[in-house]
Amino acid sequence: SRTPLTLLGTGAMGSALARAWLAAGHRVTVWNRTPARAGALAAEGAAVTASAAEAVAASRLVVACLLDDASVGEALEHADLTGRDLVNLTTGTPAQGRARAAWAEARGARFLDAGIMAVPPMIGHPESGAHVLYSGSGALFEEHRDTLAVPAGARYVGADPGFAALHDVALLSAMSGLFAGVTHAFALIRREDIAPGDFAPLLASWLTAMTQSVHRTAERLESGDYTEGVVSHLAMQSAANATLLRTAEEQGVSPELLTPYMDLMARRVADGHGDEDGTGMIDLLAQAAPRA
Ligand code: NDP
Repeated sequence: SRTPLTLLGTGAMGSALARAWLAAGHRVTVWNRTPARAGALAAEGAAVTASAAEAVAASRLVVACLLDDASVGEALEHADLTGRDLVNLTTGTPAQGRARAAWAEARGARFLDAGIMAVPPMIGHPESGAHVLYSGSGALFEEHRDTLAVPAGARYVGADPGFAALHDVALLSAMSGLFAGVTHAFALIRREDIAPGDFAPLLASWLTAMTQSVHRTAERLESGDYTEGVVSHLAMQSAANATLLRTAEEQGVSPELLTPYMDLMARRVADGHGDEDGTGMIDLLAQAAPRA
């Protein structure tokens, strides 16, 4: 029979998760700070409790999907976590994940932190590519792997409870740069007689082709060789940046999303690394600030 579970937080994401588990035949107990927001799930078969402590008492497997790390601490303040398997699907930082793991373990629970790589409509549809990154207790992950894989693909990224958040944030940070580039590209064509709908397929196929470079970057980081077989070296790229900036000016578009990356490249070239590809910029960036 399916593992019963408790879900804390029935916001947009929590509700989607609860529905996926209910649809798969799990007994689901839910709690939400604002009780009215759990009402729809009660009609769909979830058991609703009046307090988080009661919800935690109802199942050994407890999943939290709340706003932020502080809300997890608040919600669980008066709950007995002894013998519980706590899975934290709340977005946080690596340090918050590690601190929350120590906090949960000190209260007698096994702990997994997680980062959800999906939006609510993708939950319950693993074919959409929806997945969740988990880190922390490997024993917890192994025991509940099948249950965790119901709402979205489940990937374990390490015993360090900070790693799920670190992977999550690294992926989101890469997306931020990607979206910055897309924003600038559409701005360049904005005032011309170019239909955005005609431009979008060109942009999508270009970006798809370019993403393959991440594998070469990983190889170079692992080998330490940033110059062998470079086809588009930094000195050349730096010169091409002038054309990108001049075009932005011609089109009346602010260069503010491009210049931070270009400035970093110029620094690497000025340091005498114009014969490399972009890999050395990673070292430059990682050395920029002392670790917190
Ligand atoms: P919502 O804003 O829809 O829901 C937030 C939930 O947190 C509600 O249940 C809310 O309760 C609860 N909450 C907030 N503060 C507290 C508190 N102090 N004590 C107890 N409960 C509290 O957010 P989502 O459901 O979308 O997001 C939940 C988590 O999932 C977040 O960490 C988010 O980053 C993550 N996530 C969301 C994605 C998305 O696309 N939505 C994508 C990937 C991750 P109440 O109803 O009482 O306000």
